[in-house]
Amino acid sequence: MIEAPAGTARMTGRSVVFLHAHPDDESIFTAAAIRRLADRGARVVLVTATRGEEGTPLTPLRPGETLVSRRVRELESACALLGVARLVILGHRDSGMAGAPTNGHPRAFARQVLSSARALVDLVDEERAEALVHYDGRGIYGHPDHIAVARLGRWVVHRMQVTGYEATVNPEHLLAGPRHLVEGSRPRSATRHLGSRPAEITTTLRASTAELLTKRRAMAAHDSQVPREAVTATEFGRVYEHEWFVGSGQHGILDEVADDPTGRNSGASLSA
Ligand SMILES: [Zn+2]
Repeated sequence: MIEAPAGTARMTGRSVVFLHAHPDDESIFTAAAIRRLADRGARVVLVTATRGEEGTPLTPLRPGETLVSRRVRELESACALLGVARLVILGHRDSGMAGAPTNGHPRAFARQVLSSARALVDLVDEERAEALVHYDGRGIYGHPDHIAVARLGRWVVHRMQVTGYEATVNPEHLLAGPRHLVEGSRPRSATRHLGSRPAEITTTLRASTAELLTKRRAMAAHDSQVPREAVTATEFGRVYEHEWFVGSGQHGILDEVADDPTGRNSGASLSA
C-alpha cells in the first residue's frame, strides 16, 4: 500500500470503475488518473472489454505465447504499476479498425455492446462505485470498440445515476505538440476531428513527475503494441502528461483530484 502524498485527502472506502476497450487504452488515456486515485486511497476497478485480438504485434511473440496471452500479461503488468485493485476482462472480441471485415464477427464487441450492460451494472453496484470513466461519443478517435465503450458507458451512467467521466483528448493541444499515438497514421490536419472540443472538457489532470514516470512505464509494459520510440521520446511529457475528461452528472471524485488545465494550480505538476 502506497502512502497518500502529504496534504491530500484520503479517499479510502471510495471506488471508481474505468471502462476501456483494449489492453493499453487504460495506460495511454487514463494512467495518471488511475494512479492518482489509487495513491489517494480510492479503489480503482478496471474493466477491459476485449483482449485486443486484432492488434498487430510490434515485437516477436515468445515461444508458446499468443497475441492474446501476451496482451493480457501486459495488461496485468500495467495494472500492477497503476495500482488497479481489480481487473475484469469482459471477453468480447476486438472488432478491429472501422471498416475491417472483423467488424462483422458475431462476437465483436461493437456488435454486442449492450450484452454486457447487465454485468457492468452489477459490477458498479457490487463495487459501490461513485463514478464510471469511459469514452466520449466519438470513442476518442472513432475505433468501433471505443464508440461501443461510449454507448455502454453512457447507458450505465444513466441507469446507475453515477458521475460519468468520458475520457477524451484535446485536439488543439495535440496539434500544438509532437505526435500522439492516437493520431495514428492519419494526416495531421485530421487531428482536429479527434476527441472533444476544448469547451466541452470539464476535467483535466496534468501528471506529476512521479505519475508521468508511472505512465511511461505502464505504456512501456504494452510493448507488443506501443512503439518503443513513443515511450523513450524526450518529448513524452509534452505529449502524454495531460488527461482530459468530459464529466456528466454530479461533480465527482475525478474533479476533486483534477488540476487547473494550465497546471498552475497543481503543486504536484511539473513544467513541460
Ligand atoms: Zn483501444
